[in-house]
Amino acid sequence: MATDIGPPDYRTMLPEVIKKNYGKWKYHEILKPGLLKHVAEGGDELYTVRAGSPRLLSIDTVRDFCDIADKYCDGHLRFTSRHNIEFLTADKSKVEPLIQEVSKLGFPVGGTGTCISNIVHTQGWVHCHTPATDASGVVKAIMDELYDYFVEEKLPAKFRISLACCGNMCGAIHCSDIGIVGMHTKPPTRIDDKNFMTWCEVPTTLSSCPTGAIRRYTTEDGTKTVRIDEEKCMYCGNCYTVCAALPIADAEGDGIAIFVGGKVSNARTRPKFSKLAIPFIPNNPPRWPEVVSAVKNIIEVYASHARKGERMGDWIERVGWPTFFRLTGIPFTEKHIDDFTGALSTYRTTTQFKW
Ligand code: SF4
Ligand code: SF4
Repeated sequence: MATDIGPPDYRTMLPEVIKKNYGKWKYHEILKPGLLKHVAEGGDELYTVRAGSPRLLSIDTVRDFCDIADKYCDGHLRFTSRHNIEFLTADKSKVEPLIQEVSKLGFPVGGTGTCISNIVHTQGWVHCHTPATDASGVVKAIMDELYDYFVEEKLPAKFRISLACCGNMCGAIHCSDIGIVGMHTKPPTRIDDKNFMTWCEVPTTLSSCPTGAIRRYTTEDGTKTVRIDEEKCMYCGNCYTVCAALPIADAEGDGIAIFVGGKVSNARTRPKFSKLAIPFIPNNPPRWPEVVSAVKNIIEVYASHARKGERMGDWIERVGWPTFFRLTGIPFTEKHIDDFTGALSTYRTTTQFKW
């Protein structure tokens, strides 16, 4: 039965060559950065051209992409989870003209293999209400600087960068080679008592706090509102998500932390969570030069020391964290010591059933 609930069935939108060879692909290879070739058991070929996108796309840009897909790919294209756009065609003769047309629009072709793939990122100041930093602005500044790493395979292994603009962390930074996270550093104590009861509900506001830092409060004139126990607050911003009377954004206190060494892959070593490298860099829009140079420094040190096939986290584990901090010149401070007692000691991070 057809309904309007959920996305349409993706199988109806697959290119014919994929429908025909579903589950029957023999191997794939990367012909050059941004160009994949899949070969089916029966000999059919599929070419994929990958280009970077800024994630927030204008209608005109989407139409341009669709025109290219109509012209070269029988209307087929897809977006990857890291906002790369991929054009799929079974016709080898269309590949080079397709690449030229995508490049002419100003979109870089690359991001495969040991290139840096597109940076997955969150809403930022454009759209969300909780961010401690922007998302698209920081990512644009970083990728402008790392452009060569997107279009050329210059790194020892796959490399994934993510950005989440607050600790709610919509952006998968917990498992990327470099994770960039917006950090609030002050509790939401500028409470709008006047509007609290019309904008917020007490029970949902109290229960939104993961550390139980919010308590009921009645002002001298009888207004019902809440107060924050600053000692318990970890500045996550979750309360502001449900209650607009608890603003947490702060021009001075908001900034960026950088985490390193995470990965999702089970290849060679088990998946890893990213770990803290730089606790705080103040926001410096519109180009965040301090963040850009910190990310570039970490990548360049990794690129010149890691072995072939070694992900960032694997390299750090081999040489040791003291060596990572020494080589990158990042100071090790008390902020790097994880004293949070609420976590289990062993989050399970592998697909293997060991515990
Ligand atoms: Fe909003 Fe935080 Fe998600 Fe960014 S990471 S989009 S601020 S909830
Ligand atoms: Fe609780 Fe987070 Fe709000 Fe602090 S910012 S009061 S920890 S929900």
